[in-house]
Amino acid sequence: MAVRASTVGDVFAGAYGRPPAGLWAAPGRVNLIGEHTDYNDGFALPFALAHRVVCAAAPRADGQARVRSQQAPEEEVTVGIADLGPGTVSGWAAYPLGVLWALQAAGHPVGGVDLLLDGDVPLGAGLSSSAAVECAVALAVSELSGLDLDRTALAGIARRAENDIVGAPTGVLDQMISLHGRAGHLMLLDTRSMQVESVPFDLDRRGLVLLVFDTRAPHRLVDGAYAERRRACERAAAHLGLPALRDLDVAALDGPAFASLPAELRRRTRHVVTENARVLAVVAALRADADPRVVGPLLTASHLSLRDDFEVTVPELDVAVEAALGAGAHGARMTGGGFGGCVIALVDSARAPDVSDAVAAAFRDSGFSAPRSFVTRPAVGAHRIA
Ligand code: ADP
Ligand code: MG
Repeated sequence: MAVRASTVGDVFAGAYGRPPAGLWAAPGRVNLIGEHTDYNDGFALPFALAHRVVCAAAPRADGQARVRSQQAPEEEVTVGIADLGPGTVSGWAAYPLGVLWALQAAGHPVGGVDLLLDGDVPLGAGLSSSAAVECAVALAVSELSGLDLDRTALAGIARRAENDIVGAPTGVLDQMISLHGRAGHLMLLDTRSMQVESVPFDLDRRGLVLLVFDTRAPHRLVDGAYAERRRACERAAAHLGLPALRDLDVAALDGPAFASLPAELRRRTRHVVTENARVLAVVAALRADADPRVVGPLLTASHLSLRDDFEVTVPELDVAVEAALGAGAHGARMTGGGFGGCVIALVDSARAPDVSDAVAAAFRDSGFSAPRSFVTRPAVGAHRIA
């Protein structure tokens, strides 16, 4: 359910006995294509969701930080700002409080603050509720503290909170799109230069929709497998004498250096190299104002590469993709890190109900929990709402 600013303000006043000084919102995200490329200096093409986390905030004079969340009711966490550090907070509060620590660690003094979070980004579904929390708090606290930080710097701070305080070794993709998202546009992110460019993505005009299926598959092995994939990519780049797999051209997949890689590293490498090429192909097509339907086969190719070469899909993801394609989707793929999470499908608007039904039926037949699905389009990035 959409989060209303007035409600969040009222809850804040009820909890803390005074109104908030302001409210800020930051969205979750879907990555259209460009998966497991962000730690290979490669390209990704995400967009911001209408689902978002709202952060109400007011400064305190005593150097304490208090935080509450409507998604973790009855739990209030209070810490001294100066006492924050790796290992000092755990659970959900590590995400917002980690941002306060990361701001200070980057040399930006922040004062005490009361924070209240409320959001409608599904938690742990691969739509990046974690970055939505971090970015809403980062924007709120930096503005309240009068810090003059650009959005790419804020994304780095939010990522540091997740890496060092939460302890999740993620890239910066989720935070970059949450802070840089633009309605009606994808964001091409070059993770080597950290440059972002907007790419128009207007599906309504073409009679298309993008469906998201939250498979609700239990995340299995996520952290260990993620770290293992990262290491494999680093080993492959080192073997090839390259700074990163970004530096390998698609044509080199026919060459002797690639052939000399151990079989598993060959598969991992082939995914990263072809995935970067697919991102750039999608961007070229959309920039040329091609019918977005031509993007469909690239989405499906990305899924097959993640399934067969990168080996990060699970049966729920594969079944959802197959069912969507079988019901007439132009393309479909898992999105996010894999091992659970969501599938996206590019579908003619008129066929959206059929495709949703087909995926639900396939899940029933496979004995999986019913998926949640929704239609989405690129929404605005983090901003102050009151
Ligand atoms: P994802 O980012 O894909 O949703 P993560 O595991 O990275 O999944 O992050 C989910 C975690 O982020 C939750 O378990 C919770 O600790 C925290 N979180 C997300 N949204 C909220 C919220 N609205 N309030 C409090 N904590 C939240
Ligand atoms: Mg996350």
